[in-house]
Amino acid sequence: AKKSGGNRVERYCAQMNEEAVHRLEMDSYLRKAVEKNELFLCYQPIVNVRTGAVIATEALIRWRNPQLGLVRPDEFIPLAEETGWIHEIGRWVLQTACQQTKRWQEMTGNDKLAIFVNVSAVQFQHERFVDDVKRALKQSNLSPSCLHLELTEHSMLRHLSSTMRTLDELRRLGVGIAVDDFGSGYSSFHYLKQLPATILKIDRAFIEHLHANASDAAIVSAMITMGRGLGLETVAEGVETLEQLERLRDLQCSYAQGYALCPPLMAEEVTPYVAGQQ
Ligand code: C2E
Ligand code: CA
Ligand code: CA
Ligand code: CA
Repeated sequence: AKKSGGNRVERYCAQMNEEAVHRLEMDSYLRKAVEKNELFLCYQPIVNVRTGAVIATEALIRWRNPQLGLVRPDEFIPLAEETGWIHEIGRWVLQTACQQTKRWQEMTGNDKLAIFVNVSAVQFQHERFVDDVKRALKQSNLSPSCLHLELTEHSMLRHLSSTMRTLDELRRLGVGIAVDDFGSGYSSFHYLKQLPATILKIDRAFIEHLHANASDAAIVSAMITMGRGLGLETVAEGVETLEQLERLRDLQCSYAQGYALCPPLMAEEVTPYVAGQQ
């Protein structure tokens, strides 16, 4: 028998093996997740900082599998990107989120209510991506101006020239482009200037200590000012306390999202928020 622990390489291999097996298992379940109705969306309200009105929600995917339990998107989205399943999943997300938003608009009479949909880099690079967006809008009858696609800066800077073409095409459709997790990567003002983005989503790492840390406050303030100068709206992510919300109001941040306002919830639970009853 092997000595307990083994050497470093053995341990490393054993761990790799376990991970590989787990990924294979997850992959086999993920392939059936759409048809088996195991995927669902939660929605998190995005709120006007000044008025408190819910102007939009962000769709956040969830996967509940009988064998694996609830799997976090951070775990299965990278796998879906590797295997290519992200395209089918992404199409389902777009369609479901647009339909739900149209339903809310009809329910509340607010035809400005918007939806933010996360798009992975791989999904975005697919030649059919713009067609997928068009189809989701057509099938849901949602106005393009109510759809905002969230992409990280990193994913937009991959294959920059083809990305630009796709972004321009989406903008011509009237769809909004939000830079997700802004400030978390290698932000380059040179590229930001070129991107036809409409919204900056300030990464929650800068919001976390906003009320206590002068540097973070200075950075958030600068991001908001720069956004305004570039004609971009700003959304602060991960707002967990009322102090943070107050600071954001002082800094004239347009929109906020976070546990302090509302966590991601099932569509039915979000309805009172979008109807202005919460
Ligand atoms: P993200 O786009 O940056 O989404 C924000 C994450 O922060 C979400 O985690 C949300 O539940 C969480 N969050 C919201 N408010 C707060 C807060 O006040 N404090 C803290 N600490 N966290 C907060 P979630 O739902 O686990 O999603 C993780 C990531 O998975 C997302 O990060 C996004 O990159 C990706 N993702 C989620 N849904 C989709 C999807 O439909 N498609 C794709 N491609 N990626 C998705
Ligand atoms: Ca996002
Ligand atoms: Ca984010
Ligand atoms: Ca993120």
